[in-house]
Parts: sequence; C-alpha cells; structure tokens
Amino acid sequence: MHALVTGGAGFLGSHLVRALLKEGAQVTVWDNLYTGSRKNLNEVAGAIDFHNLDIRITSPENLPVSRFGKFGVIFNLACPASPPHYQKDPIFTWETSVLGMHNILRIADSHGAMVLHASTSEIYGDPLVHPQPESYWGNVNPVGIRSCYDEGKRAAETLAQDYVRFKKADVRLFRIFNTYGEYMYPDDGRVISNFCIAALKDAPVPVYGDGSQTRSFCYASDLIAGILSLQKLPREKYDGPVNLGNPREFTIRELVGVLEKVTGKKLQVKNFPLPEDDPKVRRPVIEKAQRLLNWTPKVDLEEGLQKTLAYFSEEIKNAKSK
Ligand code: UDP
Repeated sequence: MHALVTGGAGFLGSHLVRALLKEGAQVTVWDNLYTGSRKNLNEVAGAIDFHNLDIRITSPENLPVSRFGKFGVIFNLACPASPPHYQKDPIFTWETSVLGMHNILRIADSHGAMVLHASTSEIYGDPLVHPQPESYWGNVNPVGIRSCYDEGKRAAETLAQDYVRFKKADVRLFRIFNTYGEYMYPDDGRVISNFCIAALKDAPVPVYGDGSQTRSFCYASDLIAGILSLQKLPREKYDGPVNLGNPREFTIRELVGVLEKVTGKKLQVKNFPLPEDDPKVRRPVIEKAQRLLNWTPKVDLEEGLQKTLAYFSEEIKNAKSK
C-alpha cells in the first residue's frame, strides 16, 4: 500500500507516518513546514519520500512524481491546528483547508485513491448540544477569529461529501477532538503543551478565563489507532463523519490538578483573558467509532501526560545544550 500523508511532518502527521511504516506501507509525505518540522521525521527519513509542498497549489497538473508511484490512499492532515497558529495567517488557513482539500480530492480522483480527511471538533463551534454526536450541526461564528479554521474545515467536509455523492469518491472524514502527546511543539500554544512547559520550568500555569471551560483529551497513539481503523472499514459501512476523541471531560482548572498529581508539584496559576469565541464545553460522543471501528481510547490522561512531560523535558534539555 502506498500512502500519501499531507502534513506528515506535523505533530499527528509524523505519528501517522511512523504507524503506517510499521504496517509495511510505502509513505510519501507532503509538508510545507509551516508548523511541521523535518526533525519529527528524522528516524524514518530514509524510508519515506518527502516533498516540501503546499497543497493549496499542488493539483493533478503540477504533481511531483513519488518514487513509489501512484497513491492508494491519501491522509489529508495538512493544516495548522492550534488556535494561535491557525489565526496567525487566517487566509492561509482557509486556503489550506478548502483549496488544499479540493486539490487532494482531484488528485485522489486521478489516482483512484481513498481519502481520509482530518476534520475537527471545531466544526461544532461553541456547542449548544453537549456532548457532541456526529449528527449535531454545530454553533459556529462565521466571521470570528476562529472562523478561518472552523468554517474552512466545514467547507472541506462539504466538498468531501459532494465528491462522495457526485463522483462516487471514497472519502472518509474523522473529526479530531483535542489530542496531545510526544512531537507536539513546545511553543504550539495549546493548553497541554503550555501547561507542561510551564510545569517543567516552574513557571505559573496560564489559565485563560476562569478555567471552567471543558475539553476532553485524547492521547496521540489512540487517535492514530482510530484513523487506521477507519481506513480499514469496508467502504459500504462508511456513512459520514466519525468523531475520534477521548470522552473523559475535564475543566481546565481540573487539568491543573491532574498535572499537579502527575508532576508532584504545587503549581502556581496565572489567569489571562478568555480568547474570543473559546468554546465553553467539548466532549465527543464516540458511539459511532466504537460500533463501526471497534475503537475506544485506552490511554488515560495521567499516563499520557507522564509520557508527554518526559518528551518535553528532553526537548527543553536539547534546546539548552544548543
Ligand atoms: N487554554 C488555557 N491556557 C493555555 C492555552 C489554552 O487556559 O495556555 C484554554 C483555552 O482557552 C481553551 C482550552 O484551554 O478553553 C483548550 O485550548 P487549546 O488552545 O488547547 O485548544 P482548543 O480546544 O481551544 O482548540
């Protein structure tokens, strides 16, 4: 099997690349290194075909030839996903989500490849239904600071579903809820990386708002197992987007407590204003993934945080010794 992973040098992309290689796949990676890093692929660099490419401008007409030939499957993970990163250049984010997705669908059509597309819990916006099943249409501000990502990802889902309807394409959408683990960037800006780095540096933990907002955190290996199960699902059984995430829900204040338990440190908290349109609650309903994919997350937050802290601790040491 020859897999293309767009965004394969990113946090989740690089996990997926390693998992695919373990399964014996040939892997081509496209990444424009906007947030991704070649370093994430160091240990597999010789096994993959890497191209520094932008999916916004790569269409079937200007496709570079992979040394492995035609693609059998495309995993489309290319897009900045952390709020500060996707908000830095919102036009780039929207174009990557929508124009990028259109190019991927056209390329898949010309190769006869299956597409697995990374959608997001952000398509539910600031949800009025809690927890969120796939059938919920969401509550999204179309003109806010998160819209480039939220609406971009919604438009990508629309495009994908129309390719399924009108072109009989094999496209599968998975909606990723907050995921964390090794290979996150220390300056990613998301809550788990910010909190872990602060705890390791004995700095105050930055809590936005009063910390009563909730999130549900999935460890990277669980997420990747879900994506790979979706790929293996018989085509006739796929019937629309699938939530992938851990249904255990925490307030951000509770997250500080879990981190204190894991690090054995009493952490200082510093409060900052809540960012605009920050969703108040988020938790996936995962019955569909359990039923269709026989998938359920296995790694609890304490265990996942321990591993993530060990990774960040090494990263901090390496940065110091440079
Ligand atoms: N958050 C926080 N401190 C941080 C980063 C984030 O309190 O340093 C909060 C943020 O306001 C949000 C939640 O943690 O309510 C998750 O934020 P993140 O950026 O990780 O992802 P999101 O789920 O908002 O996309």
